[in-house]
Parts: sequence; C-alpha cells; structure tokens
Amino acid sequence: MNLKELRTILEIKRQWRDTNLLKKVQEEQLEKMFQAASETEYYKHLFESPVDSLSDFPITEKNKVRDNPDSFIRNGINKQDLKVLRTSGSSGKPMKIYSDMESSLFRKCLDDASALEKGRSPLDVIARIEARGYYQKPRFDSKFGLFRNIFFHVNEDIGNILSIMRKKKVDGLGGYPSMIYLIAKANMENPIKLKSAICGAEMLTKDYRKTIEESFSCPVFNMYGCWEFGPLGWECPEEHSLHINTNSVILEIVDSKGNAKNSGLGEVVLTSLRNTTMPLIRYKIGDLASWGKECSCGRSLPVLKSIEGRCDDMITLPSGRKITPMKILVEYRGDIYKGISEYQIIQERPDLFVVKVIPTKDGFKHEKEMIDRIKEACLNENVTIEIEIVDKIQKIGTKQRRVISKVKIKN
Ligand SMILES: [Zn+2]
Repeated sequence: MNLKELRTILEIKRQWRDTNLLKKVQEEQLEKMFQAASETEYYKHLFESPVDSLSDFPITEKNKVRDNPDSFIRNGINKQDLKVLRTSGSSGKPMKIYSDMESSLFRKCLDDASALEKGRSPLDVIARIEARGYYQKPRFDSKFGLFRNIFFHVNEDIGNILSIMRKKKVDGLGGYPSMIYLIAKANMENPIKLKSAICGAEMLTKDYRKTIEESFSCPVFNMYGCWEFGPLGWECPEEHSLHINTNSVILEIVDSKGNAKNSGLGEVVLTSLRNTTMPLIRYKIGDLASWGKECSCGRSLPVLKSIEGRCDDMITLPSGRKITPMKILVEYRGDIYKGISEYQIIQERPDLFVVKVIPTKDGFKHEKEMIDRIKEACLNENVTIEIEIVDKIQKIGTKQRRVISKVKIKN
C-alpha cells in the first residue's frame, strides 16, 4: 500500500461518519459523471436539453453495455491506456468494463477499507476462494508482509484447502459463501479458528452463516458488490446491517416505471460516482432489494434490508457429497463458453443434470467438452448430463439463476 492509497482509505472512512461531507462528495462526483456522460456516444443526445438530476437519465439495461461497450467510453480516450474487466455475467453473458487508473485504485481502496472495517489487520493472511480460471498475482505490498492473500480455485479439494490454511496459519477466509460453507463443514472434524469470514457474490443464507460462524468460531460478514462497480456495500461489525457505499455509487430502488421508491421491493439501479472513463448511469444490475431501517452503529450510510436474485442452489451428488454451484459453472472455461449466449443447469435428480443452452448466432459447438467438464466438477460420480438447446430460460425475479437443484436434501 502506498501513501495515496492510505490517504484514500482514511478519507473513505471519514466520509462514512460525516453526512454533510458525504453529501458534498456525492454532488461533486455526480457533476463529474454528468460531464463525462455528455462526452459519450450513448448519453450525449440527452444533453441537447439541460440535465439537472439523475431522473433525467433513462434506466440502462445490461445488454446495452454488453453489445456496445465502446459507446459508453468517453470520447478521445485511448483504450490501450485503460484497465479492462471481463465480467462473468451472472445471467450467463460476459461483458467488458473499462476503467482508468484512478477509479481502479479507488475500487481497490474500497476493498481494503471494508476489510479493515470488519476488524481485519493489514498483517492478516487471507485465504480467498476464486472461481476464475487463474490465480491472481500477489499484491505489491504483500512483499512487505501486508495484505497477504492465498488464492484457491473453487475446484480445489477442500481437504487440501484446509491443510494449507492450517500450515500457513491463515487468519481469515473470503469468497463464495457456498464454498466457505463446505470448507466450514469439513473443518468441524478438527477445527481451526479464524478471525473472520467475508462472503460475497452469492446469497449468504442463515444456514451458511451459522455453520461458518460455529465451525471457525468467528464472525461472518456479507459483502454486496458486482463486477461492473466493485464493492457496493458491506455489513457493519456492530449490527450486521448492509451499508451502501454512497461515496462511490448512488443506489436507487425503482418501480417498474423506473421511479425511485423508498419502501418495498424493487429493482436495483446503480450510478457510478467514480468511473468517469466509462460512466454508467442508472444501470440496472438485475437484483431486487428493499431499503432497511437506519442502523444504530453511527454510520451515515443507508442500509439495504434484503437482496434477492443471487441464489444458485447447492448440489448434492448421488453419494451424498455436496459441491458448490460455482464448481459446475462454465463461464471461466474458455472454449466451452464460446457459442453460448445464456445457459442454466438444472439438477433434476441426484444423477441427472439438464443444461439449457441458448446458443449465439455462431452456434454452440462444445457439447462434449461441456459434458466432460460438468462430470469432472461432479467429482466423476455416475451422473448423466443432457444438453437442451432452447430459445428461452426461466427467470426468477429479474435475475436468471444459473444453477437450480430439484434435489431437496437439507444442507
Ligand atoms: Zn451499521
């Protein structure tokens, strides 16, 4: 961590406690976003008449960004100088998000600030569970013993993960709750203790939380974030309320007409306050949520009560062994994913998986590889994989679930 990062982290923390300062930061940043938006192909027509507030912007669906990301990049910016993030696309469709160095740094600082907020020390060693097909490069500051991470892929054997965690004296765990839950179950035989577990990207169920807390004798925190925007919010240590980082994003909950609402369930719409290179304004993320009550912890940040739509099912194999749904996803499997527009895996019986695939216009050509890949993810148990080419996939709420299990065995 350098001095600039440290300053950013302290600044973020100060804003959380000071409502007036937070408001000022938001207004300044929003003005920068409007200016940036006026210089993009996608938004510039809106500025033919005066633009005063967010409600002057239409709601933007994901497919607009996925189909033409360049139309959201500010004019005159050289793409070679930008960082590019390729999203998994939890609806099964990948997309690209570009950002400049400054907004990437802010995003990283938000990550660190949130970890410190949950009682983590910069000296802690964290085991992180990743689904992407590579291990991330160690951070520069890890050379000095700071913010050290050990990355594990979701396909890694759970016994191995635990034995490395034990050997390396890991202080905390981070990643997909379904995988952390399975590690927690295996840990119960000869438990190691942790300082904390931080879960994100999937729904953290009550059952997962309780098991992880008991197994590792540590508090469990939930994060809310997305690839397009980075961390959106996290639970405070005092009340476990999910506070939204309104210094980096404006989160609205809107009704079916796109009007912001203050109560009841609605669609989550996000406006970045940081990425002026690729301004995303009133972007529909695909989650349903509702606002919660003010928290007693003292943070001035608003609280989300519930988030729905990030709930893939745990898989129980014919032998009774369980695997995380993350394991059978194919987004990160290179060639297999080519030719897929959307897909969904349904476990009809312990030994039968049906994969519904909407192909791209070039056609889906990797059936055999997909079948082999899912069988392998099912620990080579005796399972049958059937692939169905379809033109529509079932949605629950606004978000399509990627993995549905009809095998109802208590976790
Ligand atoms: Zn709180």
